[in-house]
Amino acid sequence: MPDTSDKTATHLPGRVLGIAIPGPLRDLFDYLPARQPPRHGWQVGLRVRVEFGRRQLVGVIAELRSDSAFPIEKLKPVSEVIDEAPLPADWLWICQFTARYYQHSLGDTFAQAMPSLLRQGRALEARTRERWSLTDKGRITEPASLGRATRQIALLELLAQHRHGLVHSAITAQGFTRQQLETLRSRGFIESREEPVTGATPEQASKGVLAEPSLALNDEQGRALSRLHEGLSRFSPTLLEGVTGSGKTEVYLQLIEAVLDRGGQALVLVPEIGLTPQTLERFRRRFRVPQVMLHSGVSDGERLDGFEAARSGRARIVIGTRSAIFTPMAKLGVIIVDEEHDGSFKQQDGLRYHARDLALVRGKQEGIPVVLGSATPSLESLRHAREGRFTHLHLHQRAGRSQPARLHPIDLRGRMTLGGLSTQSLDAIEKRLAQGDQVLVFINRRGFAPTLTCHACGWIAECDNCDARMTLHRHPPQLTCHHCERTRPLPDACPACGSGDVRPQGAGTERTEELLGEKFPDVPVLRIDRDSTQRKDAMSEALAVIRRGEPCLLVGTQMLAKGHHFPHVTLVVVVNADSGLYAADFRALEQSAQLLVQVAGRAGRAERPGEVLIQTRHPEDPNLLTLIQAGYPQLAGELLEERRIAQLPPFSHLALLRAEATDQQQVEQWLLKVGSALRQHIDSADLKVDCLGPVPAPMERRQNRYHAQLLLRAAKRGPLHEAAAWLVTLCEQDRDARRLRWSLDVDPIGM
Ligand code: ADP
Ligand code: ZN
Ligand code: ZN
Repeated sequence: MPDTSDKTATHLPGRVLGIAIPGPLRDLFDYLPARQPPRHGWQVGLRVRVEFGRRQLVGVIAELRSDSAFPIEKLKPVSEVIDEAPLPADWLWICQFTARYYQHSLGDTFAQAMPSLLRQGRALEARTRERWSLTDKGRITEPASLGRATRQIALLELLAQHRHGLVHSAITAQGFTRQQLETLRSRGFIESREEPVTGATPEQASKGVLAEPSLALNDEQGRALSRLHEGLSRFSPTLLEGVTGSGKTEVYLQLIEAVLDRGGQALVLVPEIGLTPQTLERFRRRFRVPQVMLHSGVSDGERLDGFEAARSGRARIVIGTRSAIFTPMAKLGVIIVDEEHDGSFKQQDGLRYHARDLALVRGKQEGIPVVLGSATPSLESLRHAREGRFTHLHLHQRAGRSQPARLHPIDLRGRMTLGGLSTQSLDAIEKRLAQGDQVLVFINRRGFAPTLTCHACGWIAECDNCDARMTLHRHPPQLTCHHCERTRPLPDACPACGSGDVRPQGAGTERTEELLGEKFPDVPVLRIDRDSTQRKDAMSEALAVIRRGEPCLLVGTQMLAKGHHFPHVTLVVVVNADSGLYAADFRALEQSAQLLVQVAGRAGRAERPGEVLIQTRHPEDPNLLTLIQAGYPQLAGELLEERRIAQLPPFSHLALLRAEATDQQQVEQWLLKVGSALRQHIDSADLKVDCLGPVPAPMERRQNRYHAQLLLRAAKRGPLHEAAAWLVTLCEQDRDARRLRWSLDVDPIGM
């Protein structure tokens, strides 16, 4: 043991350990090394247990310091070192980048980026399983020579059929017991060894990476793939733009094949809603290599195992949602972000990172290709592509024979609607059902009706806690606020004037479902929204009905718009296209155009051309017409030009300071105070940053708390980050800040 009292030790880095501790504070906390050093010395990236206040917490050594700002004798030693080796270097790097870029606590970033079992101090090691196989003696023994031990004979015969042996669970699944295995082992016929749960089985390792042949690519796909091949050994960001069904996934699969052949690993990010069993199944069918799937249904144990298998290199493909960007990978060879425009890549609370942006950062650091795929690319990615920073590849045709869907506006002005549907739409639905097709009705509101109103006095059911209307639900019958989950029983009469003429206003999924059920009693009506899919198997049961291909009606929210393939749907009705066209957020138009195109992509995937009816009260809206007549790329180009003129992202960079409190005045005054301090700093440091606001948040009152915000805008990221870092430090030190909640969002989406 080294003598820590030795004078020469005082200037060594590592005299003090800077520990990142889960929690909001961005500073590291100083501790002393424990008396007993870890086997390979003190290193950045080792997890340690420390006493923090009265609790024992798991932190990560983030710096070896030679001194502390605190008196050394007051520092506590760490209680325990958990790891022998530091956490993976690539993982530490991306966490450190993320914490710095998003102005977030490093300890909290580490905690969020690691599986919960690691957070609790579990060792980072592979789970193993037992594999049984015949010994040399077992191989030459005639099973029948075992006489009357019939189960043991059967067991020997079973193992004789499997050259690479069988895992324990596969044997017990056939009714054999450990007792029987142990008996055969003690007689020297069989043996067992441990192998990692996630890893190539001997059968897999002896064959190639492909489990099924890949498809012959069409010309466009072939050209795209060969361009991607050219960039395999360096950082090469690519935007792969192609309509739904144009064969992007097939291109990803064949690119991944090339990466696997070179010994690399692939990381595939998909939107929350896109991680369907269909997608996973497609990867499983294609590749024989070990794959890790990270989604909300994965247990803590599996998550830890996946993390370990990826960092050791045993897992060759990792597919997951947003947080999978924090998977350590030994030989990362490509990152693919499917549906890169999707909002679910941005985390909207706590650590507000954007997984697509981090994918680019990670790809650059690793010197590997990053492929962003979409039918409706984000304006951010489009700008990079147009200015030549990304390779821009297109897939125009749909793979196979299917035709693109045709879009038609349906004018709702002055027309009667039933359950939200115009007679024109209902006629079209009837015709398609009679032809034996399936129809999808897309409606952005769950519940029965968006609200309840009194026709005598104009009263509207509003939430007491929020600046929002309450949604009417039928199952169970009640009013619910979708922002705070508050519920209220249905009133018998108007609470304002006592009139009995209280009616639902507008249509939600439940009301449309009900109407369609009455109109078309002979076909099944399947509703798919957050309420109907609460039950675990509801979604897969509905999908099974849809896949059978018999006529049916699907009514659903965005859950239906992405990821799923509905080859028998030939008509899509969009109940209301207007909310997105006229929203306040500068991104609303981009997002609703993306959604419309995604929904339209559900129609006509097989031989039959699809049709999309877009119900609107603004059929002459220029943006809507551009989308319908010229398509998304044209509209996106126009929107980009508008953003450039208005100096909005992607032509500027934003950071948003949000604050909330129960007292409206308090929030405003606090933001005014920090805002004016920030402006002074911007002036004196001569930063090219605008500070706008404070202004109330779009929904000012939510859950009885008042929300307001301060916006920072700059043409360049550098000054923006300097200003943002200064601001966060100010807020952290400000005493008044403790009486409210605040957060900083770098590159905010949805303001
Ligand atoms: P995207 O990811 O762009 O939506 P997919 O890769 O899922 O497109 O392709 C859509 C459908 O076309 C799938 O059923 C796929 O199997 C099929 N497909 C893709 N590429 C080809 C090809 N080259 N030849 C035949 N079928 C293809
Ligand atoms: Zn009334
Ligand atoms: Zn509410």
